[in-house]
Amino acid sequence: MDIEVEETVGELRQYFKTGKTKSVIWRKNQLTALLDLVHENEDAIFKALHQDLGKHPVEAYRDEIGAVEKSANNSLSCVEKWMAPKKSNIPLLFQPAKGEVLSEPLGVVLIFSSWNFPIMLALDPLIGAISAGNVVVIKPSEQAPACSSFLANTIPLYLDSNAIKVIEGGAHVCEQLLLQKWDKIFFTGSPRVASIVMSAAAKNLTPVTLELGGKCPAILDSLPKPSDFKLAVKRIVGGKWGPCSGQACIGIDYLLVEEKFSSALIELLKKIIRRFYGENPKESKVISRIVNKQHFKRLCNLLKDPLVANSIVHGGSVDEENLFIEPTILLDPPLDSPIMTEEIFGSLLPIITVNKIQGSIEFINARPKPLAIYAFTKDETFKRQILSETSSGSVVFNDTMVQFLCDSLPFGGVGQSGIGRYHGKYSFDTFSHEKAVMHRNLILEIEPRYPPWSNFKLEF
Ligand code: NAD
Repeated sequence: MDIEVEETVGELRQYFKTGKTKSVIWRKNQLTALLDLVHENEDAIFKALHQDLGKHPVEAYRDEIGAVEKSANNSLSCVEKWMAPKKSNIPLLFQPAKGEVLSEPLGVVLIFSSWNFPIMLALDPLIGAISAGNVVVIKPSEQAPACSSFLANTIPLYLDSNAIKVIEGGAHVCEQLLLQKWDKIFFTGSPRVASIVMSAAAKNLTPVTLELGGKCPAILDSLPKPSDFKLAVKRIVGGKWGPCSGQACIGIDYLLVEEKFSSALIELLKKIIRRFYGENPKESKVISRIVNKQHFKRLCNLLKDPLVANSIVHGGSVDEENLFIEPTILLDPPLDSPIMTEEIFGSLLPIITVNKIQGSIEFINARPKPLAIYAFTKDETFKRQILSETSSGSVVFNDTMVQFLCDSLPFGGVGQSGIGRYHGKYSFDTFSHEKAVMHRNLILEIEPRYPPWSNFKLEF
């Protein structure tokens, strides 16, 4: 495998040198082929996602197939515009001259994806890499094996296999990949592995984009109108347990609310959970399963501490055989317990009460910068305060998760939650180098720029 990896990267580099991937035709053909791949293999994708995560086909369509189609269609219609040289004004001092900014592909790029949205998190960055004219290796997550082998088997049937390769495997393969020289590494995963990736990249000064995670808070302010309160809680349930049963980087990790509203909130959360997943969620076909035993045990361990277990106000039942953990709500678990210090990435929702909702800002700021902050509020002053006093990858008011689907917004973290951004034009930029070009001509010279100089100041 070690030699194979080296050979593959060498072949890709040779192919990149042919310049074929730079043409707009090649980029558009690949994006079209990617759309065909997704359209013609919907059933196989549903099957793989069900096998790996128990995803319902509607959820699989919404979060994976649909998201990829939207991105590919957007890139297909914009790529020519994105590629076009951008004119730049040149200061009078350097006239006569023309300036332009040319986007060029970086070259040979490596994409590591995660298991929670195993199709979309592999194909969405690929769309950016293709649009920018690169050659690519995708390393899907070994923790979603059915999706990983679907990608490995299907991509060569549709895309230019001289330019786009899938290499499957676990940590050993990742280490081999990181020994190679890349022109860009795009990584989706945990901060722990991200630092391994970044150290390896540093050896060759390879730029990285790190799409990581963390604890994303949701703030629920007082919403006196019952319909507002109901809609907010519905969106909270949708954002917590809807995408992959809470195994989502921008899923709600914990919920901040004023103490006086907590019982009403818990009652409504329970009601909506029942409405979405039935009286016995274990029997529900619309809630994903935990990805594997290791993550199942990790989540169960978060509940083991007696003080944490005592804080459960809803749910808490687990079924190892079916890798199922009931939607579980905890009220004020100890703040120094792992459930409040580590990313949960699963179906447990701690509610943290504060005296005044403004105190949630201090709470958030005492922790690493999250990938997303959600705030349900109609108070414009509070909104401004959240925006100006906190730092996070994104902020969404009065909804959850929807920012991921907006190609017009950059998607990425800050601090502990990541480096760089992608989606839409941001993906194109992430996989491009913007080359500054200046066209001068050979008339008009400013002689004082050359020696010999006197002691006088340089003046034009
Ligand atoms: P992970 O870090 O364990 O794995 C991510 C990728 O790294 C996989 O492809 C894996 O094969 C590879 N890898 C594993 N060990 C490696 C090693 N030693 N060297 C190099 N590569 C290695 O993360 P995960 O369990 O797949 O995902 C969970 C994390 O990812 C969470 O923190 C979550 O928040 C984050 N995440 C972020 C986003 C986002 O878009 N920001 C999306 C999904 C998940």
